[in-house]
Amino acid sequence: MNDLEPQAVLSWVERFITRIDDQVQELTELDRRSGDGDFGTNMVTALSRAKAKFSPAPADAGAPFSSLSTAFLEHSGGTSGPLFGMWFREFALAGEGSPAFSTALLADAARNGVATVRRLGSASVGDRTMVDAMAPAADALAEAVEDDVPAARALRLAAEAARAGADSTSSIIARRGRASYVGEAALGAPDPGAVAVALFFESAG
Ligand code: ADP
Ligand code: MG
Ligand code: MG
Repeated sequence: MNDLEPQAVLSWVERFITRIDDQVQELTELDRRSGDGDFGTNMVTALSRAKAKFSPAPADAGAPFSSLSTAFLEHSGGTSGPLFGMWFREFALAGEGSPAFSTALLADAARNGVATVRRLGSASVGDRTMVDAMAPAADALAEAVEDDVPAARALRLAAEAARAGADSTSSIIARRGRASYVGEAALGAPDPGAVAVALFFESAG
């Protein structure tokens, strides 16, 4: 009953787009400190394409994520584009053919999503990438399944875990991505990809 129906998933994704739009300058500034300063633009470009692809009446719970995934895979420059594209693809696959996202389906999506990103980017937790927010969010959702937590509350727990993970990147010297070229210069500011993941889960509720 608490499961997220297609319309609720669409609203979640739309809130995420709005939050990224609102924070584009902060995200760009973070990428300027630890990379090449195009992260905000890369995100906004993909997300504006996603908006154009949304169906106002999504066919199943995965459909809004499918539009999001395709937009990232087709239209974003930068390393984050294909990685987010493949991450959201796992959310699309988990919800495909389902009338709603349960906590268990969300946990499947997050587990498969982070596994895919880790494989493609060869990044582990602690390398100062988006994985540092994706992995704790996936763990929080898996725990929520064990504890029989309803989907909306499970997503709040995932958001807290993702935010804590993103915050933790402020004190990590990068081992992956462009941030690894700047070493200690990035200390004190979080990884923009990890912050975007926290914003995604925070947009759920
Ligand atoms: P680019 O460095 O190509 O300009 P973006 O600015 O689009 O890429 O994205 C940067 C983000 O991508 C980083 O903040 C980090 O979260 C993520 N990232 C970079 N390299 C990797 C990797 N190997 N694995 C996982 N995530 C990565
Ligand atoms: Mg960049
Ligand atoms: Mg770039």
